[in-house]
Amino acid sequence: MTASRILRPQGTGRFVFLCDHASNSVPLELDGLGLPPTELARHIAWDIGAAGVTEALSEHFDAPAILCKTSRLVIDCNRQLAAPDLIPETSDGTVIPGNQQLSEAARASRVERWFHSYHDAIEAVLQEREQRGVPTVVVSIHSMAASLAGTPRPWQIAISSHLDRSLAGPVLAALRRLDGIVVGDNQPYDLDPKVDYSIPFHALRRGLPQLQVEFRQDEIWDADRQRQWAARLARCIW
Ligand SMILES: [Zn+2]
Repeated sequence: MTASRILRPQGTGRFVFLCDHASNSVPLELDGLGLPPTELARHIAWDIGAAGVTEALSEHFDAPAILCKTSRLVIDCNRQLAAPDLIPETSDGTVIPGNQQLSEAARASRVERWFHSYHDAIEAVLQEREQRGVPTVVVSIHSMAASLAGTPRPWQIAISSHLDRSLAGPVLAALRRLDGIVVGDNQPYDLDPKVDYSIPFHALRRGLPQLQVEFRQDEIWDADRQRQWAARLARCIW
């Protein structure tokens, strides 16, 4: 099993889309991490709906997209390597049996096979564009649970930003012009270079313009709504 799925690596669009939490797949040898399928279907394992939105955006812009092929319960590809929840022992109240008291060798193997392989694939696409002199905007697509700890989240879509708001600002303004849409600005999450990995490592480090987007999962539950939301976002990011 490869660590990533790459769409349109030679795409001509100016965006490169990342989807760190696209999949709830667990490599066979990890035996489902000891979890029943009902747990692996939950948001703890992946960003429900995010892959479909990413695929639609890649198609719309003829732009590359790199999607992670392993569950974030195997290793969270949007966490710093030293983060305590890189390979979580529990998530949203669920104990992950296959992640308890991992040996150093087992951790190192996951880092090498699933984390580095995914990020190397992103690097390859970005470096190749740099060499060709193609301007790039990096857009990271995530989804959030509709509620957390019993508190509903009002935001249908949210932009997570850090110091550079050069793209986040106008995109937020464009999203707010859409009728009846509740938009989060650094709610429920901001972009934190000490916590997030993909945008800081691939975009901020290079000084590339970037955007991190969260869709609420009940808004992108099925393929029709994934395409609708991709089209809406596409209108707001040009
Ligand atoms: Zn995510």
